Amino acid sequence: MRLSRYFLPVLRETPAEAQIASHRLMLRAGMIKQAAAGIYSWLPLGYRVLRNIERIVHEEQQRAGHIPLLMPTLQPADLWRESGRYDAYGPEMLRIRDRHDRDMLYGPTNEELITDIFRSHVSSYKDLPLTLYHIQWKFRDEVRPRFGVMRGREFLMKDGYNFDLTREDALHAYNRHLVSYLRTYERMGLQAIPMRADSGPIGGDDTHEFLVLAETGESEVFYDSAITDLKFGSRAIDYDSHAECRAVLEEFTSRYARTDETHDPALFEQIPEERRRVARGIEVGQIFYFGTKYSEPMGATVQGPDGKAVPVHMGSHGIGVSRLAGALIEANHDERGIIWPREVAPFHVGIVNVKQGDAAADAACEGLEAALGKAGLEVLYDDREERAGAKFATMDLIGLPHRITVGPRGLDKGVVELTDRRTGESEEIKPELVAERLTQG
Ligand code: ATP
Ligand code: MG
Repeated sequence: MRLSRYFLPVLRETPAEAQIASHRLMLRAGMIKQAAAGIYSWLPLGYRVLRNIERIVHEEQQRAGHIPLLMPTLQPADLWRESGRYDAYGPEMLRIRDRHDRDMLYGPTNEELITDIFRSHVSSYKDLPLTLYHIQWKFRDEVRPRFGVMRGREFLMKDGYNFDLTREDALHAYNRHLVSYLRTYERMGLQAIPMRADSGPIGGDDTHEFLVLAETGESEVFYDSAITDLKFGSRAIDYDSHAECRAVLEEFTSRYARTDETHDPALFEQIPEERRRVARGIEVGQIFYFGTKYSEPMGATVQGPDGKAVPVHMGSHGIGVSRLAGALIEANHDERGIIWPREVAPFHVGIVNVKQGDAAADAACEGLEAALGKAGLEVLYDDREERAGAKFATMDLIGLPHRITVGPRGLDKGVVELTDRRTGESEEIKPELVAERLTQG
């Protein structure tokens, strides 16, 4: 992509309304534009990041055997009257009336809708286990939308729902989600710690939240520092194996890690003092087991092996897809801008031509752009008639993992400069070797 033909409206000034780094940087890097309080347009650069996050979420959900579908954003109120949540949900729910005076709502979550789909089409235990999920916009009329996409009113969420015959199977689905979430966050270059949490309006007994540690997090967290040594890594996992998934859950939730709602000071005191941590975290996901809370009132039953109809055991599992864009920046930035982890970066590499219009420099940049593209890398080539300093500042701000600087002085020696955004380290390299360097490992 040539920057001269792209749409990257970077801001020179720091927007006054943004209180935290990720919000400031998303506005400055031209990733988002506020449409109304807590409602954002995703500009091209931001949209590329959002799509990358979505892609990873899809891949990891499908790896765990979960099936994608797409439900609408608008839902009929009647379904929520069946579960009893229409009145219970409160002013966070955006209620709408259509021209025929039918009560509708913009979905804050989808337990009712998915349960309706399930009960319409599934009647035998032989069709279980089943986990369906989608990535769709939600609306919650938050009292205080703030911090940009971190606490929006409209936001993108992956929400998945498992249907199982027994409590034991549903707990396996819970553990399977925990494993798939650990993989998902790690692939994005994030460490998200599962913490025992409070279930809130979704209901149920078993729930874990996944928190990314950051000073600007909204939740207070208490944990044993040993938990941050745990890595999922590249280990293979059989998602069908109850024992394997349970072992991962036990490994990652055996040590103390709780949010302020479930914090137990007496238990916390038992951790050696030097390992006790009190910090702040950003909630990037939550999993719930809630049994028959929805299937019973809504009549989602299956015929069991003995021929008797039984309500299915369910859980729901959410990932804050749009919030993750902000959380990733909170965890990866410096005073100059964003530092994208490779898997979610909007482009892998930026090319800076320090002497636009110089025939040799232009030709070298174009050659690099073509070679890197051929090697499967996504390239943003800054071909604007701009000062080199301004080009560097833009590249640092938007945080692409690698920058290639091309200028006549280097080209005379047969080299370009390759710079790593995270470490700041630069090396001179022959242009024809760059593609290989960036694709190995
Ligand atoms: P919170 O406690 O932050 O209000 P929640 O517990 O109500 O969130 P869930 O119902 O668990 O949210 O939704 C799943 C995920 O969706 C959350 O873990 C979070 O990452 C994301 N999310 C929830 N509310 C918002 C919001 N207002 N803006 C952006 N993302 C959100
Ligand atoms: Mg939650």
